[in-house]
Amino acid sequence: MGLLPISVILVATALLLKTSWFPVFPGLGFWWYVAITFVLVMASTFSATLYLHRSLAHKSVTFVVWFEHVLRICIWLTTGMRRREWVAVHRKHHPFADRKEDPHTPAFQGVWHVVRYGLQLYRKEAANPNTIATYAHDIPFDWIDRRLYHPFSNVGIFGILPALYLLFFGSLPGFVIWIVQMFWFPYVVVGFVNAFSHSLGKKGFGFLSYRNHNTPDLSVNLWFWLFSFLTCGETNHNCHHAHPASAQIKCRRSEIDPGWWAIVLLKYLRIARDIKIAKCEYSE
Ligand SMILES: [Zn+2]
Ligand SMILES: [Zn+2]
Repeated sequence: MGLLPISVILVATALLLKTSWFPVFPGLGFWWYVAITFVLVMASTFSATLYLHRSLAHKSVTFVVWFEHVLRICIWLTTGMRRREWVAVHRKHHPFADRKEDPHTPAFQGVWHVVRYGLQLYRKEAANPNTIATYAHDIPFDWIDRRLYHPFSNVGIFGILPALYLLFFGSLPGFVIWIVQMFWFPYVVVGFVNAFSHSLGKKGFGFLSYRNHNTPDLSVNLWFWLFSFLTCGETNHNCHHAHPASAQIKCRRSEIDPGWWAIVLLKYLRIARDIKIAKCEYSE
Protein backbone atom coordinates (compact mmCIF):
# COMPACT_ATOMS: atom_id res chain seq x y z
CA MET A 1 0.00 0.00 0.00
CA GLY A 2 1.34 3.41 -0.93
CA LEU A 3 2.05 6.33 1.31
CA LEU A 4 -0.98 8.36 0.37
CA PRO A 5 -3.68 5.72 1.06
CA ILE A 6 -2.13 4.85 4.43
CA SER A 7 -1.93 8.49 5.47
CA VAL A 8 -5.49 9.16 4.34
CA ILE A 9 -6.78 6.10 6.21
CA LEU A 10 -5.02 7.09 9.43
CA VAL A 11 -6.20 10.69 9.37
CA ALA A 12 -9.71 9.71 8.26
CA THR A 13 -9.96 7.15 11.06
CA ALA A 14 -9.11 9.78 13.63
CA LEU A 15 -11.72 12.10 12.13
CA LEU A 16 -14.38 9.40 11.81
CA LEU A 17 -14.02 8.53 15.43
CA LYS A 18 -14.62 12.20 16.10
CA THR A 19 -11.69 12.23 18.40
CA SER A 20 -10.75 15.64 17.16
CA TRP A 21 -14.02 17.02 18.52
CA PHE A 22 -13.59 15.17 21.81
CA PRO A 23 -9.86 15.49 22.38
CA VAL A 24 -8.02 13.84 25.24
CA PHE A 25 -6.95 17.29 26.47
CA PRO A 26 -9.93 19.54 25.69
CA GLY A 27 -9.94 23.32 25.88
CA LEU A 28 -6.41 24.04 27.05
CA GLY A 29 -5.54 27.74 27.14
CA PHE A 30 -3.49 29.45 24.43
CA TRP A 31 -0.24 29.45 26.42
CA TRP A 32 -0.61 25.78 27.18
CA TYR A 33 -0.69 25.10 23.46
CA VAL A 34 2.36 27.33 22.96
CA ALA A 35 4.24 25.40 25.66
CA ILE A 36 3.19 22.03 24.21
CA THR A 37 4.27 23.08 20.72
CA PHE A 38 7.64 24.20 22.07
CA VAL A 39 8.19 20.88 23.87
CA LEU A 40 7.23 18.89 20.76
CA VAL A 41 9.47 20.78 18.34
CA MET A 42 12.36 20.63 20.80
CA ALA A 43 11.84 16.87 21.18
CA SER A 44 12.37 16.54 17.45
CA THR A 45 15.43 18.84 17.52
CA PHE A 46 17.02 16.97 20.45
CA SER A 47 16.39 13.61 18.76
CA ALA A 48 18.08 14.76 15.55
CA THR A 49 21.15 16.35 17.15
CA LEU A 50 21.68 13.64 19.75
CA TYR A 51 21.02 10.56 17.66
CA LEU A 52 21.45 11.35 13.95
CA HIS A 53 24.24 13.88 14.33
CA ARG A 54 26.33 13.25 17.43
CA SER A 55 25.78 9.53 17.98
CA LEU A 56 25.35 8.00 14.51
CA ALA A 57 27.22 10.35 12.19
CA HIS A 58 30.17 11.25 14.44
CA LYS A 59 30.08 8.45 17.02
CA SER A 60 30.83 10.94 19.78
CA VAL A 61 28.31 9.39 22.19
CA THR A 62 26.52 6.05 22.55
CA PHE A 63 23.06 5.55 24.03
CA VAL A 64 21.52 2.44 25.55
CA VAL A 65 19.41 0.49 23.08
CA TRP A 66 15.96 1.32 24.44
CA PHE A 67 16.73 5.03 24.36
CA GLU A 68 17.97 4.75 20.76
CA HIS A 69 14.58 3.29 19.89
CA VAL A 70 12.81 6.21 21.59
CA LEU A 71 14.88 8.63 19.49
CA ARG A 72 14.30 6.64 16.30
CA ILE A 73 10.53 6.67 16.83
CA CYS A 74 10.62 10.40 17.54
CA ILE A 75 12.66 11.06 14.38
CA TRP A 76 10.29 8.95 12.28
CA LEU A 77 7.18 10.64 13.67
CA THR A 78 8.42 14.22 13.55
CA THR A 79 10.98 14.46 10.71
CA GLY A 80 10.55 11.57 8.26
CA MET A 81 14.35 11.30 7.95
CA ARG A 82 15.91 7.91 7.19
CA ARG A 83 18.90 7.50 9.48
CA ARG A 84 21.28 5.91 6.96
CA GLU A 85 20.57 8.60 4.38
CA TRP A 86 20.91 11.51 6.80
CA VAL A 87 24.23 10.20 8.11
CA ALA A 88 25.65 9.59 4.61
CA VAL A 89 24.77 13.06 3.36
CA HIS A 90 26.02 14.76 6.52
CA ARG A 91 29.30 12.85 6.52
CA LYS A 92 29.85 13.87 2.90
CA HIS A 93 29.23 17.51 3.88
CA HIS A 94 32.20 17.54 6.28
CA PRO A 95 35.16 16.79 3.95
CA PHE A 96 33.63 18.77 1.07
CA ALA A 97 32.18 21.67 3.07
CA ASP A 98 31.64 24.72 0.84
CA ARG A 99 33.07 23.00 -2.20
CA LYS A 100 31.17 21.92 -5.28
CA GLU A 101 30.72 18.36 -4.00
CA ASP A 102 29.07 19.60 -0.75
CA PRO A 103 25.45 18.34 -0.84
CA HIS A 104 24.12 21.58 0.69
CA THR A 105 26.40 24.51 0.17
CA PRO A 106 25.12 28.08 0.09
CA ALA A 107 28.42 29.02 -1.59
CA PHE A 108 27.37 27.30 -4.83
CA GLN A 109 23.62 26.76 -4.42
CA GLY A 110 22.65 30.06 -2.81
CA VAL A 111 21.45 30.76 0.73
CA TRP A 112 17.73 30.71 0.05
CA HIS A 113 17.97 27.57 -2.03
CA VAL A 114 19.54 25.75 0.94
CA VAL A 115 16.87 27.12 3.30
CA ARG A 116 13.97 26.36 1.00
CA TYR A 117 15.05 22.91 -0.14
CA GLY A 118 16.74 21.87 3.14
CA LEU A 119 15.43 18.31 3.27
CA GLN A 120 15.05 17.80 -0.48
CA LEU A 121 18.81 18.35 -0.85
CA TYR A 122 19.37 15.41 1.52
CA ARG A 123 16.97 13.20 -0.42
CA LYS A 124 18.56 14.16 -3.73
CA GLU A 125 22.07 13.31 -2.53
CA ALA A 126 20.86 10.14 -0.77
CA ALA A 127 19.44 8.87 -4.06
CA ASN A 128 23.06 8.39 -5.18
CA PRO A 129 23.96 4.81 -4.11
CA ASN A 130 27.65 5.73 -4.04
CA THR A 131 27.00 8.27 -1.31
CA ILE A 132 25.29 5.65 0.87
CA ALA A 133 27.93 3.01 0.16
CA THR A 134 30.84 5.37 0.83
CA TYR A 135 29.61 7.30 3.84
CA ALA A 136 27.10 5.07 5.63
CA HIS A 137 28.46 1.54 5.17
CA ASP A 138 28.70 1.13 8.95
CA ILE A 139 25.16 2.32 9.70
CA PRO A 140 22.84 -0.61 10.47
CA PHE A 141 19.86 -1.31 8.24
CA ASP A 142 17.85 -3.47 10.58
CA TRP A 143 14.45 -5.15 10.49
CA ILE A 144 12.56 -1.99 11.51
CA ASP A 145 14.41 0.08 8.89
CA ARG A 146 13.61 -2.44 6.17
CA ARG A 147 9.95 -2.88 7.05
CA LEU A 148 8.89 0.46 8.53
CA TYR A 149 11.22 3.44 8.75
CA HIS A 150 12.58 3.16 5.22
CA PRO A 151 9.54 2.22 3.08
CA PHE A 152 7.10 4.26 5.17
CA SER A 153 9.35 7.17 6.08
CA ASN A 154 6.61 9.76 5.48
CA VAL A 155 3.75 7.88 7.14
CA GLY A 156 4.79 9.19 10.55
CA ILE A 157 4.78 12.89 9.66
CA PHE A 158 1.79 12.85 7.31
CA GLY A 159 -0.34 10.14 8.92
CA ILE A 160 0.32 9.14 12.49
CA LEU A 161 1.58 12.48 13.84
CA PRO A 162 -1.42 14.58 12.69
CA ALA A 163 -3.78 11.81 13.82
CA LEU A 164 -2.21 11.83 17.28
CA TYR A 165 -2.34 15.62 17.52
CA LEU A 166 -6.00 15.67 16.50
CA LEU A 167 -6.69 12.99 19.06
CA PHE A 168 -4.93 14.75 21.91
CA PHE A 169 -5.48 18.43 21.21
CA GLY A 170 -8.58 18.68 19.00
CA SER A 171 -9.07 19.88 15.42
CA LEU A 172 -7.69 23.40 15.27
CA PRO A 173 -4.92 23.25 17.93
CA GLY A 174 -3.85 19.80 16.70
CA PHE A 175 -3.65 21.02 13.12
CA VAL A 176 -1.71 24.19 14.05
CA ILE A 177 0.79 22.28 16.20
CA TRP A 178 1.34 19.83 13.34
CA ILE A 179 1.90 22.65 10.83
CA VAL A 180 4.44 24.33 13.13
CA GLN A 181 6.26 21.03 13.53
CA MET A 182 6.28 20.41 9.78
CA PHE A 183 7.81 23.86 9.27
CA TRP A 184 10.30 23.60 12.12
CA PHE A 185 12.53 20.70 11.19
CA PRO A 186 13.06 21.25 7.45
CA TYR A 187 13.35 25.03 7.52
CA VAL A 188 14.77 25.89 10.94
CA VAL A 189 16.79 22.92 12.16
CA VAL A 190 18.03 21.84 8.70
CA GLY A 191 17.68 24.75 6.26
CA PHE A 192 18.54 27.64 8.59
CA VAL A 193 21.57 25.95 10.14
CA ASN A 194 22.98 24.64 6.85
CA ALA A 195 22.48 27.97 5.09
CA PHE A 196 23.40 30.67 7.61
CA SER A 197 26.17 28.75 9.37
CA HIS A 198 28.03 28.61 6.05
CA SER A 199 27.21 31.87 4.35
CA LEU A 200 28.31 34.80 6.50
CA GLY A 201 31.96 34.93 5.47
CA LYS A 202 35.25 34.00 7.09
CA LYS A 203 35.65 37.41 8.68
CA GLY A 204 32.29 37.20 10.41
CA PHE A 205 29.24 39.26 9.62
CA GLY A 206 28.98 42.13 12.09
CA PHE A 207 27.06 41.18 15.17
CA LEU A 208 25.61 38.05 13.53
CA SER A 209 28.52 35.64 13.32
CA TYR A 210 32.13 34.94 14.29
CA ARG A 211 34.73 32.19 14.02
CA ASN A 212 36.80 30.59 16.76
CA HIS A 213 38.80 28.37 14.43
CA ASN A 214 40.37 28.99 11.06
CA THR A 215 38.81 25.95 9.40
CA PRO A 216 39.21 25.56 5.61
CA ASP A 217 35.44 25.87 5.10
CA LEU A 218 33.20 28.92 5.59
CA SER A 219 31.58 27.71 8.82
CA VAL A 220 30.70 30.29 11.46
CA ASN A 221 29.12 30.39 14.88
CA LEU A 222 25.92 32.44 15.01
CA TRP A 223 25.98 34.95 17.83
CA PHE A 224 22.55 34.92 19.32
CA TRP A 225 22.21 32.47 22.17
CA LEU A 226 18.58 32.03 21.17
CA PHE A 227 19.66 30.34 17.91
CA SER A 228 21.91 27.95 19.84
CA PHE A 229 19.14 27.28 22.30
CA LEU A 230 16.50 26.53 19.67
CA THR A 231 18.83 24.35 17.58
CA CYS A 232 20.32 22.55 20.61
CA GLY A 233 23.80 23.96 19.98
CA GLU A 234 23.94 23.31 16.23
CA THR A 235 24.56 26.96 15.34
CA ASN A 236 27.97 26.80 17.09
CA HIS A 237 28.85 25.44 13.70
CA ASN A 238 32.45 26.60 13.41
CA CYS A 239 33.21 24.74 16.66
CA HIS A 240 31.64 21.65 15.15
CA HIS A 241 33.66 21.81 11.92
CA ALA A 242 36.85 22.28 13.95
CA HIS A 243 36.03 19.32 16.24
CA PRO A 244 33.44 17.13 14.50
CA ALA A 245 34.12 14.10 16.70
CA SER A 246 33.32 16.00 19.90
CA ALA A 247 29.98 15.38 21.62
CA GLN A 248 30.11 18.95 22.87
CA ILE A 249 29.43 21.63 20.25
CA LYS A 250 30.82 24.71 21.94
CA CYS A 251 34.17 26.20 22.92
CA ARG A 252 33.74 29.37 24.92
CA ARG A 253 31.84 29.91 28.13
CA SER A 254 29.58 32.39 26.36
CA GLU A 255 28.38 29.66 23.97
CA ILE A 256 25.56 27.35 24.91
CA ASP A 257 24.90 23.80 23.81
CA PRO A 258 21.63 22.33 25.11
CA GLY A 259 22.47 19.07 23.30
CA TRP A 260 25.48 18.77 25.59
CA TRP A 261 23.33 19.53 28.66
CA ALA A 262 21.13 16.61 27.63
CA ILE A 263 24.16 14.31 27.21
CA VAL A 264 25.42 15.22 30.70
CA LEU A 265 22.00 14.42 32.16
CA LEU A 266 21.76 11.17 30.18
CA LYS A 267 25.24 10.16 31.36
CA TYR A 268 24.16 10.73 34.95
CA LEU A 269 21.10 8.54 34.29
CA ARG A 270 23.42 5.89 32.75
CA ILE A 271 21.71 6.23 29.39
CA ALA A 272 24.69 7.82 27.57
CA ARG A 273 28.25 6.46 27.55
CA ASP A 274 31.49 6.53 25.49
CA ILE A 275 31.35 10.32 25.36
CA LYS A 276 34.13 12.04 23.42
CA ILE A 277 35.11 15.66 24.01
CA ALA A 278 37.71 17.55 22.00
CA LYS A 279 40.42 19.51 23.74
CA CYS A 280 39.75 22.98 22.46
CA GLU A 281 42.24 25.83 22.76
CA TYR A 282 39.39 28.27 23.22
CA SER A 283 37.84 26.43 26.16
CA GLU A 284 37.66 28.74 29.14
ZN1 LIG B 1 28.57 22.47 8.16
ZN1 LIG C 1 28.62 17.02 11.77
